[in-house]
Amino acid sequence: MAQIYNFSAGPAVLPKEVLQQAQAEMLDWHGSGMSVMEMSHRGKEYMAIQAEAEADLRELMSIPDNYKVLFLQGGASTQFSNIPINLLRGKKTADYLNTGEWSKKAIGEAKKFCEVNVVATSADKNFSYAPTQDQWQLNPDAAYVHYTSNETIGGVEIFWTPDTGKIPLVADMSSHILSRPIDVSKYALIYAGSQKNIGPAGLAIVIVREDLLGETLPGTAAMSDYKIQAENDSMYNTPPTYAIYVSGLVFKLLKARGGLAAMEKVNIRKANMLYDYLDATDFYNCPTAKENRSRMNIPFTLKDEALDEAFLKGAKDKGLLQLKGHRSVGGMRASIYNAMPEQGVKVLVDYMKEFEKSNS
Ligand SMILES: *Cc1c(COP(=O)(O)O)cnc(C)c1O
Repeated sequence: MAQIYNFSAGPAVLPKEVLQQAQAEMLDWHGSGMSVMEMSHRGKEYMAIQAEAEADLRELMSIPDNYKVLFLQGGASTQFSNIPINLLRGKKTADYLNTGEWSKKAIGEAKKFCEVNVVATSADKNFSYAPTQDQWQLNPDAAYVHYTSNETIGGVEIFWTPDTGKIPLVADMSSHILSRPIDVSKYALIYAGSQKNIGPAGLAIVIVREDLLGETLPGTAAMSDYKIQAENDSMYNTPPTYAIYVSGLVFKLLKARGGLAAMEKVNIRKANMLYDYLDATDFYNCPTAKENRSRMNIPFTLKDEALDEAFLKGAKDKGLLQLKGHRSVGGMRASIYNAMPEQGVKVLVDYMKEFEKSNS
């Protein structure tokens, strides 16, 4: 098999060790004679797999006991509506920070359920930075404050935790969860789709403080009610069992690698390798403000966009795949999640240098 490096924003690269273990256990999980895919979600074996995944995630993220961990279907996008449905709790308005494409989608869904106060936006600079909290206009009547802590498309990451006092803080951490330690106790709710930095697509993880549950909008579907999901251990219906199993293997691997503090060190090294080079050359440009440069998603453009196609083709020949940027930013985007080896970033930077030399 050819050595490739997959820079896709999502679904994204998974750790090779995890894929190999899933492969080894594919036909016969621990002597059960069957694949995890074939197991009853109510059976003793699968229940243990899911319980262990939850326990490992709790340990990795130091999730306090008064938080529920939910394994849900519908991706992060379903949570865009589930959040107002569950967290408005009698209030009529919610606060949202707008830092780009995913913020806008979250805002669009919330507007179906309540008034949205946009506390600040970085639209003035094509969403290339995040407004600091002194620029936020918080509404004291807001039911909660929502922000996207890493904008996957713009590559804008917020490394500080907003202080919203008593107003519940909600974060979409889809594309940086597990990349660094987070103080969960500062949040009312954290959510993430699985297919960026966790596991296969088809799963969303919601971590929610339990006292906020139980006051949904009238007419709420059972599937959207976090309290019902929590009371049923995310088994109100059939959960995405295989995605949860593979995610559980990822959690075990991260623990074995020293947990999130260790992952953060590696992620800083990887991101610096790429940003240091982008800063040292005029051939490429990184549009993101320095203080918000994502460690996970790194957009960059070529000085001459007529070279984009040649760049992508040359990259592909070297096994460097899925580098094309999002249409709203243009150019390239390298997503370098936990599962991207340091060597992958090194090979990319070497290729970029070589391409610069032969085209300038
Ligand atoms: C990918 C992504 C989403 C959407 O995730 P789905 O699981 O496809 O619904 C939401 N927010 C962020 C920040 C993302 O990166």
